[in-house]
Amino acid sequence: PVVYVPRDSAALAVGADAVAKAIADEAHKRGLEVRIVRNGSRGLFWLETLVEVLTAEGRVAYGPVDALDVPSLFDAGFLKGGAHALGHGLTEQIPYLAKQERLTFARMGITDPLSIADYEAHGGMAGLRRAITLTPEEIVKEVTDSGLRGRGGAAFPAGIKWNTVLKAQADQKYVVCNADEGDSGTFSDRMTMEGDPFMLIEGVAIAGLAVGATRGYIYIRSEYPHALATMDEAIRRAEECGWLGENVAGSGRAFRLETRKAAGAYVCGEETAMLESIEGKRGVVRAKPPIPALVGLFGQPTVINNVISLASVPIILAKGAQFYRDYGMGRSHGTLPFQLAGNIRHGGLIEKAFGITLRELMFDFGGGSASGRPIKAVQVGGPLGAYLPESQWDIPLDYEQYAAVGAVVGHGGIVVHDDRADMSRLARYAMEFCVAESCGKCTPCRIGSTRGVEVIDRLKAADTPEKHEQQTELLRDLCDTMLAGSLCAMGGMTPYPVLSALKHFPADFAAQPAQAK
Ligand code: SF4
Repeated sequence: PVVYVPRDSAALAVGADAVAKAIADEAHKRGLEVRIVRNGSRGLFWLETLVEVLTAEGRVAYGPVDALDVPSLFDAGFLKGGAHALGHGLTEQIPYLAKQERLTFARMGITDPLSIADYEAHGGMAGLRRAITLTPEEIVKEVTDSGLRGRGGAAFPAGIKWNTVLKAQADQKYVVCNADEGDSGTFSDRMTMEGDPFMLIEGVAIAGLAVGATRGYIYIRSEYPHALATMDEAIRRAEECGWLGENVAGSGRAFRLETRKAAGAYVCGEETAMLESIEGKRGVVRAKPPIPALVGLFGQPTVINNVISLASVPIILAKGAQFYRDYGMGRSHGTLPFQLAGNIRHGGLIEKAFGITLRELMFDFGGGSASGRPIKAVQVGGPLGAYLPESQWDIPLDYEQYAAVGAVVGHGGIVVHDDRADMSRLARYAMEFCVAESCGKCTPCRIGSTRGVEVIDRLKAADTPEKHEQQTELLRDLCDTMLAGSLCAMGGMTPYPVLSALKHFPADFAAQPAQAK
């Protein structure tokens, strides 16, 4: 029998290693032969550790399994898919998974992340193999036609960026993959690197061939030690089998790839601060122009894309631009791996085409709040994303429709708060976060954030309607200055959570009753 026990950080955090060991020990004790495969996570986090057993009908799921549950699983005959209180039937038929549209995450949790044979057996390398038969212009056209936009947050069309680098004249060009996934409640980059690293390598290599870059870097946040180790090992194996190196997949073209470990600064997820960091300097944002596509890493033309953007490229090349473009709505083509977190019963990863709503994600998938209390506000797009009240939960998740209400889809992180949340405290936190993470280069962000904390405190302490009104106006003015005058999205987006909280939840900004002060 083959048993799957995830090696993803989310599973390791709840004892997956102990579960794997308990299964091996118990099988040994009972004289049974069991092959344990350490797969990636399916992304159903509330069921971790999710153990799967291969049966004639398909994989049968059990979860959440603790090491102490293992003897009873053997007693119930789980190696043959036997019934048990933790059983969920066939994994693929669990509604949370069955209702998804997994394109980028199609292999996630199915394969052994470091097995090249597994990767190829499940459609891996089809994109790169097609890419080497195309000219650089044809590859760029395919990505342009797919409608793929940057999944890191900015949603800039990937094909336009690639074309700029392709057209630039230089002896050396680079591809940099931004894996500094710092947004609250996000984990799709981490899952990709830990659960399907060859897909990212394939995507980066295709980008290299497309623009004429011969070197690439994956900038991984230091808080992701497992992702870093998995990527390093996957790169080593990809070099060994000729997918990277002097002759990429027999194309006669060279592409070398390395990882770089970040040092914990949120702002280094901003593309130019990241370049500074890779160059060994302090992570300070560069003024644009020049754009990194022309003057990027070490002053050379550089493609910079987020993990999910690059991981989406292999399937676009393998199945064609139109296949990918047909998913989604409006100008938001394809799918996005949404990440459901915070106060939610069934947190995890949901890959769906653009156009799904928050209400569907939170209730059809997430099962409502974990506390069982009414949901009050939802922050979408990281710590600098807007808070959405219930009146906005039916807006289709689409870059333009969200922008129209002053919100962002960003990297697809969704953090849920129940009715106990004090939105003025969350607004204050946004300013505090900006104080801590500002790179210090420009005044609206560096000083504005500190003043923002003070103004929110004064607003909360105002003991007359006049003072309250005055401070509210001051806060709006300050937010306007930060929005319009900041050099990058750090200062430029901090007002989003603040203004949305102020607009939709004004009662939370009222002065506290005297006895509560
Ligand atoms: Fe630096 Fe903030 Fe200005 Fe961005 S907005 S450049 S993080 S000071």
